[in-house]
Amino acid sequence: MGVYAAPVQDLIDELGRLPGVGPKSAQRIAFHLLKLSREDALRLARSITEAKDRVAWCQRCFNVAEGDLCGICADPRRDSALLCVVEEPRDLVAVERTQEFPGRYHVLGGAISPIDGIGPEHLRVKELLTRLDGEGVSEVILCTNPNIEGETTAMYLARLLKPLGVKVTRIASGLPVGGDLEYADELTLGRALEGRRELDG
Ligand SMILES: [Zn+2]
Repeated sequence: MGVYAAPVQDLIDELGRLPGVGPKSAQRIAFHLLKLSREDALRLARSITEAKDRVAWCQRCFNVAEGDLCGICADPRRDSALLCVVEEPRDLVAVERTQEFPGRYHVLGGAISPIDGIGPEHLRVKELLTRLDGEGVSEVILCTNPNIEGETTAMYLARLLKPLGVKVTRIASGLPVGGDLEYADELTLGRALEGRRELDG
């Protein structure tokens, strides 16, 4: 028997599974939710259900989307010759915030991490290769995170893509090493994008 009634313990357990939420935070959030009015609590529950029901993955770039294509892929003004490769949709959002990138994106769904058993076959690499021909891509910008996994992924992709005759660039250093793109401010990330350099592969 736990300290809490079963439904409370279930709530704490569920919250504790969220990224960045430790046991103490889970407990604090659970009690916050219990104190909310029924209406407020149900609004949160409904927004989770709605998001799960209505949001899918863009069939082209794997960003979140409400239909077959995300807003960026559906926008005819975006330059299809420039393709920015990111790990997660939240990184795409970080690059979009800089307002420096006119092209399209490709979301890998993670980064290569041998320790976690994640290899290229677990990422959307095949889908990336398919897009190169189909969309007339002339430059691939590797915008993976400036940490070990992100660098490993960028090197792997550079080696894979270079022989295909496409220009492959990597965002400039200057971003905090070991950090996440999503936490970089717009100015720093904008400069990193502008100062991207070509990789030898
Ligand atoms: Zn898309």
